[in-house]
Parts: sequence; C-alpha cells; structure tokens
Amino acid sequence: MYINGHWVTERSHFPVTNPANGEVIGEVPDCTPEDIDAAITAASNAQKSWKQTTAYERSGLLYRAWEIMLSRKQELAELMTREQGKPLKASLNEVQYGADFLLWFAEESKRINGQTIPSARGNQRFITQKVPVGVVGAITPWNYPISMITRKLAPALAAGCTLVLKPAEHTPLCAKAMAEVFEQAGFPAGVINVITSRDPALVGEAFCTDPRIRKLTFTGSTAVGKQLNARAAANMKRVSMELGGHAPAIVFPDADPVHAAKGLSLVKFLNTGQACISPNRIFVHKDQAEAFLAELTARAARLKAGSGFEAGNSIGPLINEAALQKVDSQVQDALAKGATLHTGGQRLTDGELAEGCFYAPTVLAGVTPEMKIYREETFGPVAPVVIYSDDDDVLAMANDTEYGLAAYIYSNDLSTAFKAFEALEFGIIGINDINPTSAAAPFGGMKNSGLGREGAQEGIEEYLETKLGGFAL
Ligand code: NAD
Repeated sequence: MYINGHWVTERSHFPVTNPANGEVIGEVPDCTPEDIDAAITAASNAQKSWKQTTAYERSGLLYRAWEIMLSRKQELAELMTREQGKPLKASLNEVQYGADFLLWFAEESKRINGQTIPSARGNQRFITQKVPVGVVGAITPWNYPISMITRKLAPALAAGCTLVLKPAEHTPLCAKAMAEVFEQAGFPAGVINVITSRDPALVGEAFCTDPRIRKLTFTGSTAVGKQLNARAAANMKRVSMELGGHAPAIVFPDADPVHAAKGLSLVKFLNTGQACISPNRIFVHKDQAEAFLAELTARAARLKAGSGFEAGNSIGPLINEAALQKVDSQVQDALAKGATLHTGGQRLTDGELAEGCFYAPTVLAGVTPEMKIYREETFGPVAPVVIYSDDDDVLAMANDTEYGLAAYIYSNDLSTAFKAFEALEFGIIGINDINPTSAAAPFGGMKNSGLGREGAQEGIEEYLETKLGGFAL
C-alpha cells in the first residue's frame, strides 16, 4: 500500500492469482481500519497545499506520469496479462488507453475556467470560480485494471483533488504499479494514496461516512454502486457511478450482415466479454439473420482460448469460478427455454485450460425476453441473438432494460441510423462503430448504468465545485 508517500507492507497479506492457471503471482497487504484512516488523513492534509498548486504544475506532473507510463508500457501490459488474464495485445492497448487519460487531463487542467455573469443591478458584478471538491475516494474494478484507475485519478488530480484509491482485490498489483508511476513522476506525499483490502465493504463504508471524503467515484456492479450511492447520499457526498450494462446491438435490414457480424464479434469477445459495454442482446432483422449468424458463428468458433502470453490466443479466462458459473447458468437457462446453440456452450478443460476458468466463445440464437440472459448482464463470451421483424418494435425492445450504458447500430441508411441514435436511451452509441471510446469522449451511462461521465471535457467537472462571487461596488 502507498500511504502518505510511504510503502506500507507489514500487515497480514492476501494472495493474488493468475486466473489463467491459478498460480499465485504475488500478495498484497490487507488494510486495517487504521490504515484507511491514515490514508484519508494523508490525503486531507495534502489537499491544503495541492489545491494551491497552479494548473501548470499539476499539468506538468500528469504529463510526466504519462511519459513514465508509456516508457513502462510493455512491463505494465505483461503484469496485466498475468494478473487479469487478457491477451498481451489487449493489455498493451489498455495501457495506451489508460495513459491517454493522463495526457488528456494534463491539458484539461489548464482549461478550468470561471465566468463573469452580467447582473441586473448596475452596481453588482458576478464571477464564478471552479474549485476542487476536496478529497476523493476511488474504487475500481478488475476488468480494466489500469485504465479504470487513470480515468478517475487523472481528472481528480488535474482538478486539484487529492485521493485514496482502493483497487479491486483481484488486480491490486496493477494498482501498485500505477502508484509507482505516480511516485516516480514526483507527485507530493499524500496526494495519491493506495490501500488494498480483501474486505472492500470496510473501505466503502469509510469513503461514504468519513466527513473528510467529499467525493466518491466508483466503477463496478450496479448492486454495489446502488448500496454505496445510498450511503454516500446520507452524508451528502458527490458521487460518480460507472455501473453495469446490457448493451443492445441492432443490425438493420439495410446493413451488410457480414460486416456487422465481424464488428460485433470483435466487441462481444473483447476481454472475453468482461466489459460493461459488451453487447448483451444482438437484434438482427429476419432478412439478415442467416448470413449474420453464419459469419458470427464461424468467427466465434475460430477464436482460440488460452494464456494471454501465447500469440494467437484471443480468449482469456474469466476472472473466477463464480463468474464462470454465472455465464454457464445463463446459457443453460436459455437453452432450456428454447434458444439454439450455434457454437460453444461449455467450459473449456483441454490440457492447460483445465487450470483456469475458460469458457468457449458461444453463439445463441432464438433468444427471448423470458430468458435470464435477455435481462441480466453476462460478463462473459456469449453472443445472444434475437431475430426481429419490425424496425420500430426493435427500438422499443432495445430500450427495454434497466441499463443505459452502451448500444450499437449497424445501418447503411443515414435516416435509419440517425433515428435510432435519437431513440436509444443509452449514454454511448456506436453507429457502424464498435469502439466509441476515447479519453476525449464522454463515457457513462443512463438509468441503472450510473451517474456522471468520465473522460472528455465533462470528466473534470465531476471533481469541481462552482463558487459564485457577488460583488456590490
Ligand atoms: P464489483 O461491484 O463486485 O466490484 C467493483 C469494485 O467494488 C471492486 O473494487 C470491489 O472490491 C469493490 N466492492 C465490492 N463490494 C463492495 C462494497 N460492499 N463496498 C465497497 N466496495 C465494494 O464489480 P465487479 O464484478 O468487480 O466488476 C464488474 C462490474 O463492473 C460489471 O457490472 C461491469 O459492468 C462494471 N463496470 C462498469 C464500467 C463502467 O464504466 N460503467 C467499467 C468497468 C466495469
């Protein structure tokens, strides 16, 4: 753990394992209540001087961290593949995406502008200033173990906030490596603190109740996000919530079904389906269904599962046994209720795969609203296909979910695509585009997918308060 500029190790530890083979790859300290208090105290003390730094000083440190991160790209990516299981190429992409937030917010820190506002009274002047919210408590998930850290820390630091980070217990080594990057960049002691815990509720409770924490930023499941949001609301804390999703993808009758199947197979099986923006219901017009399913099935069947260090493997393990059981139970439920299996549908146990939690890339067709997979987030390598016949109905079907994070449209008709873009109740919509994400673009969801946006110009606002000055002359 990294508290007040010091590395804290002398605690009881918990192991970190490689989900591809179950091997223990390290251990990290399990924080005590005193450690949580020490980290919040350090952040609170550091806040007094950090908020006085100029935007240019904060920008310089973020820029330095960006340079260090990129110089350590290969090493960070290898650690991520060992700890999280994703293929090395995907880890390299994630380190790059994670670094992008440092550069973006190094620049945005210099654009925290106030306003002058005309008054109705001749002898009055209004000005506003943007000020940092104060100490931030950040909780991050394991599926994108580095970029989810920088997507929160970079805007918080740029805004002038100090923070305490608690990473997911499955991927604390990536968080430790990021703490080293920030230390190497020269951030003052106490500005960034990292605590690791096998009991996340203990830390969550402190973040929601300690009066020195002014803002909670959380990425993870909707269930936990709702609990934390309720606790934080009781103490009037600012929150950002990046939660679960259940993305629809619509292949309209004018789309090229082969091109759509190619794109959707790439985004569906990315990170073995363990992504909040992963398509979870693929609606295909009946005229396109045969060609679409043939291409999607062929592509899914070709994907190779295994160690992320072996070139050619694109399907990594699921994070643990519980995740695998959840995926399989959704598949079995769908099959029992009449879905048809086009490929996959079982755990993979050949050779070394038996040591990890591998599930075959799966394509299901004939998926209906009665099936669990139609409503519940899968977080695994399963593509559920729903065949539809009416374009107006399909927009209502796509919106019929408690979630509102990502959606995808395939259409070659501008009017169809634009109408769908306007009708869909989701925060992020890919139109013939399977990667509508960037440090420059706002990321976040509607409904039960959360509150607030990360990245983009909006991302820094999450860490700022507006202060009004009314001057009577
Ligand atoms: P999770 O909610 O179990 O865990 C996420 C984080 O919350 C971890 O750090 C965990 O230790 C912590 N946590 C768990 N219980 C807690 C508690 N009671 N109090 C405080 N902290 C607690 O989620 P997960 O299964 O690890 O992550 C997958 C989920 O995250 C999926 O639902 C996915 O959609 C979501 N996600 C969302 C985004 C987004 O930007 N919207 C991005 C990535 C993942």
